[in-house]
Amino acid sequence: MLLYDPLLEIAMPRYGILIPIPPSRPQKITAFLAERHSPLPVMNLKEAALGIHTLGIQEGGTRNGGIQDGPVIEQKDLERVHDRAFIAKLYGGSEEKEKALLTTYELINSDGTYNRYNPSLAVKPLADLFDVILRHVEGSYLASRLALEKKGKAPYEDFCFFLSGGMHHARYDSGSGFCLVNDIIIAARKLQAEDRAAFIWIIDVDAHKGDGSAELVKFSRDRGESFADRNPGIFTLSVHMARGWPLDSASLAAAEKGRAPLVDSDLDIPIEEKEDDLYITRLADGLAEMERRSGNRKPDLAIVVAGADPYEKDGLPSSGLLALSLDQCVERDRLILSFLKKRKIPSAWILAGGYGEHAWEPTARFLDSLAERPIRTGEEP
Ligand SMILES: [Zn+2]
Repeated sequence: MLLYDPLLEIAMPRYGILIPIPPSRPQKITAFLAERHSPLPVMNLKEAALGIHTLGIQEGGTRNGGIQDGPVIEQKDLERVHDRAFIAKLYGGSEEKEKALLTTYELINSDGTYNRYNPSLAVKPLADLFDVILRHVEGSYLASRLALEKKGKAPYEDFCFFLSGGMHHARYDSGSGFCLVNDIIIAARKLQAEDRAAFIWIIDVDAHKGDGSAELVKFSRDRGESFADRNPGIFTLSVHMARGWPLDSASLAAAEKGRAPLVDSDLDIPIEEKEDDLYITRLADGLAEMERRSGNRKPDLAIVVAGADPYEKDGLPSSGLLALSLDQCVERDRLILSFLKKRKIPSAWILAGGYGEHAWEPTARFLDSLAERPIRTGEEP
């Protein structure tokens, strides 16, 4: 199943943000696939929410007759993961929201002047962006639910690809690197709190390290939190550029040990520049190691943060330290899916990073390949 909704598009210029991130990546992916596969198994957020609710049982064990009422993601879902004071600000006045967004999107300099932001060009208040971001969180959660409930048909059965989301840099008490709140961990913890999944793998293959996710998982573990009663857990694997995050040396110098970006994932696989040909082997080793370290616990779900920015044609100059060919990008995703399918682990895939004109290509080609060459178990090394 694919999950795509035009409501999720963040058209930066409408908010006065002058960062050249084209909003059309999900559109291009669905257009490419729709030409080849008809009908395309795609849902929007509303259909997905209705889809899971028509299955009957809601949180607390009550039925609501299949009607979705109220927001899927609530303040308490964010508070389960992030600092409560930080979340209170986001749900408070627009001034506080704007402040958090200016910092997260790096739109303000230390002297208070604006960077790549011109409010006089905006047709919508910056604070409204928070509502769109909440929809991304909703999408990551719904994709996980659809995957868990196996709502999909060939060639996209047993998994759901959400064509947005992936805010893996968001930290415990602040946004970071264009990520305000962490949709991935919020979705995972909500599933655990609702007792829908106990053990979850986060497989992050975006070009940048999933440092915010690592921090949130570590902090929650340090607090000794449990979700529902079934000894829940998350294992974080991140395969990323060995260098290049954070982008400037000043913020790296100011970074605190044990906090993002310096906090470790459960398993980090840094890839040095020019090591692209080792990428697939190291990923395969990483998946095997993750399974080994998980002991006898089989995860109920894997969330794959499938950024396209390791692609050699990615438009973000700073992600150029990883330069996988299109074939290698497709092989990356097929390897992960094959690994999970062989073990009968449902997976929710999140779009995450990818910049410039060609950023839609790896995801579109991967999804297309599933019809052209169905995954057979044993494809992975
Ligand atoms: Zn990235």
